[in-house]
Amino acid sequence: MDVHPTTRPAEGPLIDTFGRVADDLRISVTDRCNFRCTYCMPAEGLAWLPRSELLTFEELTRLLGIFVGLGVRSLKVTGGEPTVRTDLPNLIRMFRRVGPDLDISITTNGLLLDRLAARLAEAGVDRATVSCDSLLRHRFAEMTRRDALDRVLAGLAAAEAAGLTPIKINTVVIAGTNDDEVVDFARWARATGYEVRFIEYMPLDADHAWERSKVVPAARILEAIDRTYPLEGANRGIEPATTYRFADGAPGAIGVIASVTEPFCDTCNRLRLTAEGAFRSCLFAMDETDLRSPLRAGASDEDLAGLIRDGVWAKWSGHRINHPDFVQPERSMSMIGG
Ligand code: SAM
Ligand code: SF4
Repeated sequence: MDVHPTTRPAEGPLIDTFGRVADDLRISVTDRCNFRCTYCMPAEGLAWLPRSELLTFEELTRLLGIFVGLGVRSLKVTGGEPTVRTDLPNLIRMFRRVGPDLDISITTNGLLLDRLAARLAEAGVDRATVSCDSLLRHRFAEMTRRDALDRVLAGLAAAEAAGLTPIKINTVVIAGTNDDEVVDFARWARATGYEVRFIEYMPLDADHAWERSKVVPAARILEAIDRTYPLEGANRGIEPATTYRFADGAPGAIGVIASVTEPFCDTCNRLRLTAEGAFRSCLFAMDETDLRSPLRAGASDEDLAGLIRDGVWAKWSGHRINHPDFVQPERSMSMIGG
């Protein structure tokens, strides 16, 4: 039987009251974005944070150092769109210095990767995850509200050339919008060697247009692919995705992130820091811890570590999307950092 402490430990790994250990951090480096994906942002964008409210490079790096000291082993740099943060490679270089052994990846819409991939790799990014919801130009433009499929494909080529591999693709599947493309995406995975990860549409869109009927269950996506390209070897590692290989040995892989139909909260090891320094223990959390105010008021590393430990300790058992009392959090996806 697992035995875990009943009071919040002052040392050791970041643990919550359910015994889960958090060692994966997503840092949002900006709330801004150069896309307006329908399932994330409104067409007109959001009111961006004033620059003074964004954590500076020094503040971000100091907090990352504290998280690393608390046992964080992997870092995902996200946003908003992380590549629009001015001078991102320099920030990555600072991150790499405080976490020489960290697994550092970036989640990006790929638009600026053609210019940035090599510099990001050189600065210390290990891998890239690129979002791509359609392989059809007109549909890609509808879903992201930007006619940019070609640029994203060029960005992917640049990421590959820069060694930001293995490359993962994030594809949000929405019923009646792009669910007819899942087999095409699988064919693409086989041709490119990418791992295409299908994400169930979550109620985190700023327009509040999410409906359960628009969620395509991961099981249905897998069935559709398996009929054309048999899959094998389900693997549920530390990532939220369950991944499969192609049974015929073709390159590439398929992943599903079934946040709605098969929540994985009981094994969740993820933490999030928003662009303005709010610490969140869950995408759907209704509470968060302001780290920026104490940071700017002169808190010590020990004080900040204590606040982080308290926040992790208070992590709830899981999101309530499937409960009648579910309330969508105030922050939408781009304001949290997915
Ligand atoms: N801008 C970058 C990008 O799009 O990759 C990083 C931030 S974005 C918020 C991170 C991931 O969240 C993307 O893969 C995006 O597709 C996904 N996402 C955004 N809104 C979502 C929603 N309502 N449901 C599921 N996934 C969503
Ligand atoms: Fe921007 Fe990413 Fe949100 Fe799309 S999903 S609007 S690219 S933050």
